[in-house]
Amino acid sequence: MFCFNYSIYTINCQMQNCFIFGGSGKWFSRAMNLTILSLLLICAPFVCGAQDWDAILSERGFVDVTTLDTAIRVHLAYATPDNFMGKAVYVGLTKAWLHPDAAGKLAKAQQILRRERPGYALLVYDATRPIPIQRYMYNFVKEKNKTYYVANPDKKGGRHNYGMAVDLTIIDRDGQPLPMGTPFDFLSMEANTDKEDALVKNGKISKEERDNRLLLRRVMRQAGFTTVTSEWWHFNACSAQTAIAKYRLVE
Ligand SMILES: [Zn+2]
Repeated sequence: MFCFNYSIYTINCQMQNCFIFGGSGKWFSRAMNLTILSLLLICAPFVCGAQDWDAILSERGFVDVTTLDTAIRVHLAYATPDNFMGKAVYVGLTKAWLHPDAAGKLAKAQQILRRERPGYALLVYDATRPIPIQRYMYNFVKEKNKTYYVANPDKKGGRHNYGMAVDLTIIDRDGQPLPMGTPFDFLSMEANTDKEDALVKNGKISKEERDNRLLLRRVMRQAGFTTVTSEWWHFNACSAQTAIAKYRLVE
């Protein structure tokens, strides 16, 4: 995962510095570089869970959400440091993939949104999340006593691990995300969906931000998704029981 990429980057930089010795030093550096890179490539899947997830999911018949509707945008937050861990943890996973059953609902959500707000679109932050990455995330929140937010990978995982959940927001006609009161992955009570009127009353979020969340939930519910009380951005395409009984874990 992130450590895999970082290691290669660091070793490459160190080897580049060795080139100032020239001659046999240059040859030695290149040989060492290749050897270490090969070792990392061989060991990475075991050490960091790095695999070509894009190829695996494509082969399994999962759907790249950008192919559903040209309006749908993706900012895969875990492929960048722009997430609650502050690190990129997706390696070999560059697209937002969904199981076809969930993908069909997402396409419907975009159509409903377009009807309600012409020019507005869905912006996907996360979709299918393989179990090795889930395990890394679970251990990260475990250290911070926030496991409530990440499903336990050793207890059949969560719906993201089956391709049956999606994290997303809405962008306006200029491509700007609507204000929702908190950023994506803000693991605190301000992101809760069950007490938004109180959040408005206490000045934690504005009326406009609450209304934007209501718009997102309305659109997603009409398309067949369900919501959770802890995260305004998270939507499930089936129940936990159905995911376990009917769908296959991505591991
Ligand atoms: Zn989620």
